[in-house]
Amino acid sequence: MAKVLIAGGGIVGLSSALYLQASGWDVTIADRGDFSNNCSFGNAGYICPSHFVPLASPGIVAQGLRWMLNPESPFYIKPRLNEALLRWGLQFLKSANKANCERNAVPLRDIALLSQHLYESWRSLPGMDFYYEKKGLLEYFQTPEKQAHAHHSVHDAEALGLDARVMDADEVQAMEPDIKLNIKGALYFGCDGHVEPNEVMGKLKSYLQAQGVKFLPHAPITTIEKKGGKVTRVKAGPNWYEPDMLVIATGSWSRELALQAGANLPLVGGRGYSMNFAHSLLPLRYPAVLMEGRVALTPFNGHSTRIGGTMEITSLQAPPRMNRVLGILKAAKGYFPEVDLPVPKLEDVWYGYRPCSADGMPFIGRSAQASNCIIATGHAMVGMSLGAGTGKLVSQIANEETPAIDMAPYAVHRFG
Ligand SMILES: Cc1cc2nc3c(=O)[nH]c(=O)nc-3n(C[C@H](O)[C@H](O)[C@H](O)COP(=O)(O)OP(=O)(O)OC[C@H]3O[C@@H](n4cnc5c(N)ncnc54)[C@H](O)[C@@H]3O)c2cc1C
Repeated sequence: MAKVLIAGGGIVGLSSALYLQASGWDVTIADRGDFSNNCSFGNAGYICPSHFVPLASPGIVAQGLRWMLNPESPFYIKPRLNEALLRWGLQFLKSANKANCERNAVPLRDIALLSQHLYESWRSLPGMDFYYEKKGLLEYFQTPEKQAHAHHSVHDAEALGLDARVMDADEVQAMEPDIKLNIKGALYFGCDGHVEPNEVMGKLKSYLQAQGVKFLPHAPITTIEKKGGKVTRVKAGPNWYEPDMLVIATGSWSRELALQAGANLPLVGGRGYSMNFAHSLLPLRYPAVLMEGRVALTPFNGHSTRIGGTMEITSLQAPPRMNRVLGILKAAKGYFPEVDLPVPKLEDVWYGYRPCSADGMPFIGRSAQASNCIIATGHAMVGMSLGAGTGKLVSQIANEETPAIDMAPYAVHRFG
């Protein structure tokens, strides 16, 4: 049986494990942690074909510069003299335009729809009966600018065949009778679903263990050796492995490993924070995005509501910042005036790093310098949504099958 070693136990690594194991590979997953926390756990859980606009989009740079002056704002780049950050920044500036959005809308929709369909299919696997609802997503707006943006988005979504419409404040309030809303209206995407990410990750790990997938906790991959255009040996923790195939799915930490495998990815980590509150404190019925505040809220099966946001491009070692958490809570107060959320202690706030590529598109494909190494990372704000689909595509690449969708937009070497 051919052996595959997967680096990284986030949703991308675990989903790749699922499809590789099902297609006959002997699968081992190594993680530097213990598989109980990474970006795939504390996210908002949106499974969202609606997110067809990549992070690198028009206006983001100007808006980001304005936000950087406010310590509670949803976006921050810590300026550093760091070659990788500079390369990423330059490529991001080049990519943040209309052409990037137009080129990538269909690819983002296609991988999201594939992924959503696969998540739905996972729920009939033994022990995988996780919470999943497909009731849509409401994106609240308060300003005429975002209202206009919502109308444009409906137009774009309809062109992509996605269910979207603009609603006025009364219509939205009728959908959310348990909480007073201070909004002008909302953009409703009927195509979106949501999960409770911690539950999906926990059940997926148990399912994979039952299928015979081996997990190596506290085994950081540090060295990848190549010879003759192939990976020959990989060091995970204290041990060396000689896999037939290596999958690099180490999220925001993928740049260094991909470089060893011959691919120079413009990729940085974008930190976000999230907190869970009892549903009675935030009694939402539908997932919601606060458009001006850039905050995401998700009700989980009636027991709790998660609230999260911010995008901090900073060192992966920098301590978390309370200002960002306060910014999230302040934004929520602006939309839910009658809700008083308690300020949690910083140590009780979850944070994770989104693997952000310079153009907002994932990297999924083989390294040109190591034919038995597949890279799967860079999913930024939509890694949970695209996780199941990415795993399927990784297995199709490994098995030399024709992938379910056109892979050109995800090419690993598209930045050279
Ligand atoms: C606040 C917030 C809200 C979000 N909401 C959503 C959402 O609603 N929908 C959505 O689709 N996405 C969302 N995201 C984004 C999503 O969470 C990420 O894109 C996704 O989790 C990335 O998954 P991953 O598997 O690539 O990386 P990760 O989940 O980060 O996993 C990478 C793993 O690699 C391991 N690792 C690192 N280096 C090594 C090494 N050298 N050797 C071995 N292991 C290593 C790490 O320990 C980690 O376990 C959100 C993110 C944040 C922060």
